[in-house]
Amino acid sequence: MNISQRIKEKIDIVDLISSYIKLTKSGKNYIGLCPFHSDHNPSFTVSPEKQLFYCFGCKEGGDAIKFLMKIEHLSYQEALIQLGKRIGIEIDDLAGGTDEGFKELFKINDLATKYFHYILMETPYGKTPKDYLARRGITKETIETFKLGYAPPSWNTLQKFLEKKGMTLDIQEKLGLIINDSETGKVYDRFRNRIIFPIFDISGHTIGFGGRVLDDSVPKYLNTPETPLFHKGQILYGLYQTRDEIMKKDQAIIVEGYMDCISLYQAGIKNVVASMGTSFTKEQGLALKRIAKDLIIAFDADTAGDIAVIRGANILREVGCSVRIARWDTFKDPDEVIRNQGPIVFLDVINNAKPFLDYILDLFIKRYDISTLEGRVQFFQEFFPLLRSEPHISIQRVYLDKVSALSKIPPEVLYREFDQFYVSRKREFEVTSVSALSWMQKGDRNALRERLERQLLAFALNNIKALNIIRETFQPEIFTIKEYRDIYERLSSWDFEEGNFEVEDEKLTSIIAQIAISETVEYSENSLYEVIDRLNVLELQKKKDALTEELKQAEGKGDLERVKVIAGEIQQLTKEILSTGERRITVNG
Ligand SMILES: [Zn+2]
Repeated sequence: MNISQRIKEKIDIVDLISSYIKLTKSGKNYIGLCPFHSDHNPSFTVSPEKQLFYCFGCKEGGDAIKFLMKIEHLSYQEALIQLGKRIGIEIDDLAGGTDEGFKELFKINDLATKYFHYILMETPYGKTPKDYLARRGITKETIETFKLGYAPPSWNTLQKFLEKKGMTLDIQEKLGLIINDSETGKVYDRFRNRIIFPIFDISGHTIGFGGRVLDDSVPKYLNTPETPLFHKGQILYGLYQTRDEIMKKDQAIIVEGYMDCISLYQAGIKNVVASMGTSFTKEQGLALKRIAKDLIIAFDADTAGDIAVIRGANILREVGCSVRIARWDTFKDPDEVIRNQGPIVFLDVINNAKPFLDYILDLFIKRYDISTLEGRVQFFQEFFPLLRSEPHISIQRVYLDKVSALSKIPPEVLYREFDQFYVSRKREFEVTSVSALSWMQKGDRNALRERLERQLLAFALNNIKALNIIRETFQPEIFTIKEYRDIYERLSSWDFEEGNFEVEDEKLTSIIAQIAISETVEYSENSLYEVIDRLNVLELQKKKDALTEELKQAEGKGDLERVKVIAGEIQQLTKEILSTGERRITVNG
């Protein structure tokens, strides 16, 4: 048994945490107010049975060691020493705490930030990019605030610079600063001839970089890939500089791009962050929810923007935020509005931002002709699910009344339509027959998929027999969620002779704690196979979707031979889907 396991065996997590916060018993677990976020209802849960903690608010979670690291700001090693002292184990010789490694990584990234900034400000290379920034109205002060930089058009200047400072190529590659092409054997700087936007964490350390070209070459933007420091879905660009202002105003304006963020900030509208691309995530939503009530989405005004707005707003609503949508005429993005019309006009846009449901009502009314039957059906299909996610029935009614006024459909008829629409969808979602899963809407299917993967992982974490069955049934790729797959792969290769399964990665630890505490699966072979069957059906359905797409293309080309082949394959898949359902019914007797 290794030292951390010896310690964990002796320490009781409830005792440990009770010395920091007040815990009260609730069923099998203890709950209290989370020390890691401003918690109003107790969302912090401790399981004495599993010796884990998890916060349903901020998603922090893990074991006793992780708790002590977080609350006392200790490295892994320091936390072990502290815990050892509590139970009388002297620990003097521990190899490599994880925190040290992170310090080194931050140091290199911070060095790279300084390097890029120096090239921009102090060398002849910086002239062209400086002129470019000046043309876009960016002042020297703003360049300093955001520590903008420039990567020269060379293949290895950063690499050489860092090497001189004693940084190995391995570690540079780990941070995504250089690319090591294993096929050609060439090693070169990732960022070349680009304006550099360093991305900071809350304490002001560089976690990654964004690079923008000066001309029309592609890709226009290039980011640091996933690294131990850089997890794209969790980052909000600008937050380090704008956090205080967001909290003071209790309002955050969410834009898409670096330039939008910087441009607003420079114009004095400082409560702004950029989502870094259009795929807004739950983690980003939660980070904003903790610091501001009024969230305003100000994404680019184009069709892609509309889709991104709805997706982003839905994620924010899911985590319990109220969302408003800012819209403007003529110009593409907030940066252009500011540069052409000035901050006062943009502030007006912000003040007139519409609540999400008003925004989509406007959008869909414009998109569909609700005077026709077809248009109406399409409108209902798009609008009702979004309206349904509004938790207050009285507010749902307000919007149905608005639709009634616009469409001249009597309100009672609309209320009925709305209720019926929901009932039919609900049935679809709750169907018991496995094969019927394939009829589900894509969005519902994705949500179900995530839930099933979580359950499958819960089984694997829970029971070695389940783990073996899963290993025989699926490849690790069955987990489409990267973190789940990571956990599963580590679990699969774990040597249980060595002791209980544990990981050192913080994010994964949190996820494991979350699954262990929130997914209470009782192991039985039947319940495991039910999850397996459901996943199998979703996999088959995915194949079927792809083939259906191919079929359409073949039909479009008039390739009848191919159409016949694909149609046959689709029929075969349909049969398989149906028989998956039958098998479970026979298993269940
Ligand atoms: Zn919390």
